[in-house]
Amino acid sequence: MADRRASGRIAMAVHGGAFNIAPDEVDPVRLGCRAALEIGLEVLRGGGSSLDAVEAAVRSLESNGEFDAGAGAFLDEDGEVSLDAGMMDGATLATGSVAAVQGVPHVVTLARRVLESEYAVIVGPGARRFAERHGVETCEPPTQIHPREKARWLASGGGQAEAGWATKLFGDTVGAVALDRDGNLAAATSTGGSPGKPKGRVGDSPFVGAGVFADNHSAAVSTTGHGELIIPLVWAKEAANLVAGGLAAPEAAKAAVALLKRLDARAGLILLDSEGRIGLAWNTPAMAYAAWPADATEIVDGPRR
Ligand code: ASP
Repeated sequence: MADRRASGRIAMAVHGGAFNIAPDEVDPVRLGCRAALEIGLEVLRGGGSSLDAVEAAVRSLESNGEFDAGAGAFLDEDGEVSLDAGMMDGATLATGSVAAVQGVPHVVTLARRVLESEYAVIVGPGARRFAERHGVETCEPPTQIHPREKARWLASGGGQAEAGWATKLFGDTVGAVALDRDGNLAAATSTGGSPGKPKGRVGDSPFVGAGVFADNHSAAVSTTGHGELIIPLVWAKEAANLVAGGLAAPEAAKAAVALLKRLDARAGLILLDSEGRIGLAWNTPAMAYAAWPADATEIVDGPRR
C-alpha cells in the first residue's frame, strides 16, 4: 500500500545509541553508523522496500561488535547475552517484536519474521524455536559473548546491575528508519539491553510505540536510552504524533526530547517523516548516527571529535 504522498524520493537514518560516548569510541561508532546507512541506502536506491533497508542496516550494526546489539551486546546478571528487537511497517502497521532471545545473532531478522507472521510478539526460548522454524540463523548462546563485554562484566564483579546503573548513561542500542520510493516508512530497533540486567528484563526497544514506531501517516521512529522511562512516555508514538500534528521531523524530534523532562529521562531518537525530513535529537552527552534526508547531497553523521 503506497502512500499517496509518494514522491519517489528516498531517505534514511540510523543510530548507534545515545550515551556517554568515550573519546576512543567516537570514530568507531560514527563509522559503524555510516557503513550501516550506506547498506540501507543501497537497498533503497535499488528499489528495495523500507523494511528491507532497515533490516539490512540493523543487521550491519548487529554484526559490528561496537554496539550494544548482536555481536557487541551487554551481558546480563548471569553473564549471558539476551537480545530484544522490534520492527514496524508504516504502510500496513504490521509489527514484529522479540525479547529475551538467546542464540539468535540477528534478532532484527527474527523480528521481521514475526512481523510477517500472524503474531506480533514472541519472547524467550520460544523465540529461538520460532527462528529455527522460520529459517532464521541461530547460534549457541556462549558464542555471542564479546570478550570486551565479558571483561566488563567481570570487572563490575559480575552478577546484578549496580544501583543507579541508568545514570551511567550506558546505551548503545541500534536502530534505523527509512522511506522508500513507494513512499512507505519503516522502523527497527535492536538491543542487548542494559548492563547486568536481571534475567528477563526487557527495555523499550521492542515495544511498539516506545522503542519503535512507523506509520505512513506520521513518521518512523527508533529510540534509545533509559528504557524504563521511555516505556511510560510511549515516546516513539508521542514523537510521531508531533509530526501528525503538523511539525516537520527536525522540530518534532526536538519537541519530543522536551517531553523527557517529565520523568527526567535520558534518551535520544531518530525520526523520519513522509516527506523525507529527518530529526535527530538527544539529551545525553552524545548520540551516534548517520542520516540521509530526501534532499541530501552528502551523509550527515556524528559524533565527531
Ligand atoms: N533503550 C535500551 C534499553 O533500555 C538501552 C539503549 O538504548 O541503549 O534496553
